[in-house]
Amino acid sequence: MVEQTKFMLPESELPERWYNIAADLPKAPPPPLNPGTHQPIGPEALAPLFPMELIKQEVSQERYIDIPEEIREVYRLWRPTPLIRARRLEKALGTPAHIYFKYEGASPVGSHKPNTAVAQAYYNKQEGVTRITTETGAGQWGCALAMACNFFGIELKVYMVKVSYEQKPYRRSLMQVYGASVVPSPSPDTNAGRAILAATPDTPGSLGIAISEAVEDAATREDTKYSLGSVLNHVLMHQTVIGQEAIRQMELAGEYPDIVIGCAGGGSNYAGIAFPFMREKLVEGRKTRFIAVEPEACPSLTKGEFRYDFGDTAGMTPLVKMYTLGHTFIPEGIHAGGLRYHGMANLVCELYDQGFMEARAYHQNTVFEAAMQFARSEAIVPAPESAHAIRAAIDEALACKQSGEKKTILFNLSGHGYFDMTAYDNYLAGKLHDFAYPEAKVREAMKSVPVVA
Ligand SMILES: *Cc1c(COP(=O)(O)O)cnc(C)c1O
Repeated sequence: MVEQTKFMLPESELPERWYNIAADLPKAPPPPLNPGTHQPIGPEALAPLFPMELIKQEVSQERYIDIPEEIREVYRLWRPTPLIRARRLEKALGTPAHIYFKYEGASPVGSHKPNTAVAQAYYNKQEGVTRITTETGAGQWGCALAMACNFFGIELKVYMVKVSYEQKPYRRSLMQVYGASVVPSPSPDTNAGRAILAATPDTPGSLGIAISEAVEDAATREDTKYSLGSVLNHVLMHQTVIGQEAIRQMELAGEYPDIVIGCAGGGSNYAGIAFPFMREKLVEGRKTRFIAVEPEACPSLTKGEFRYDFGDTAGMTPLVKMYTLGHTFIPEGIHAGGLRYHGMANLVCELYDQGFMEARAYHQNTVFEAAMQFARSEAIVPAPESAHAIRAAIDEALACKQSGEKKTILFNLSGHGYFDMTAYDNYLAGKLHDFAYPEAKVREAMKSVPVVA
């Protein structure tokens, strides 16, 4: 018998709805707060920034929300994505474990990000928005939103974290191919950017700074809304097409994962693969383990404090309860640009705090070692972000080799790394630095976190 490697779903099995885990959480998360009054904000506070339908989704308690046909039509360009059994990697490791990965690099821009970009562009279009601003770290989000805005005829301005603007020039080009305009952040185009440039002209930038710039731009223009590529409830929900497909594909493979793994920057691809399986743990009593993996240089879940903080550096967003390193914390310029965020999605933090999942952090050299081993056995060159999940999957498989347990491991390969070859060049030349956890910088940044009674 030929053993099957690739588990594909027909287009007819593209999910018809998104899954909203808020409906199944045993304990409701605390509400976002107004930064001035510390009182819970209502949906209207978000109206200058987001279209109403996305705000409704943000606060929704509905378990499932139907995906409009116009969005599914775009999803069909690359979805359902493949689920692949990493047989060669299993063999190279000599593990009895079975390793599966869901491949989100199959999207036109090479990551999971279009799953929400297309939805967000669609709802903005529906409500007559003609211009959107956003931030991007490594550029995957900017590329995804540029593609989506191009489909729906919306103008896009992207504030791209400066270190990535310089490290990843081709993602900038790709955004421009789709018609977006891109500036390095901090930029001279906003008050937030000008203030940071004046104080620290050499800053590598950060996601928090770029968010401040994009939010300010949108809040000060009538024709413009803002779009965020991770962290928010509606973004995590849009990503659940990943896990819903994976559940069906694991059925085709005749297995069920003992461990589900995703890398976590703001938490969206992790939530995308994990939440539909997490539902089966919360509601049906499955014993699945879940692991979110982050960089040692920016370890919000593993080393942060669980408290209210701002989502951006300038402190313009509502206060959200999350594991945070402090909104003014600026991580080192590691190559996994998408994981350089000071906080984490509130829903992921709640699940972590309530004990339903684990988290761990790795240094970038050991992450790239895993990426190399994966590329040499499965041929796909992973994004540096996704390689964090691979590191954890390999470590779990090696633990099975020690114990002789035949576990089934599933991880999300959130994107490919073909625009990240500078990072691989640096790794191969032995030039990647491992940054020790910056305890003093975090302690300093935590002083800027507001005290909420
Ligand atoms: C943006 C990105 C991430 C990190 O963002 P999350 O919201 O945590 O998923 C991870 N992997 C890839 C490929 C990305 O583009």
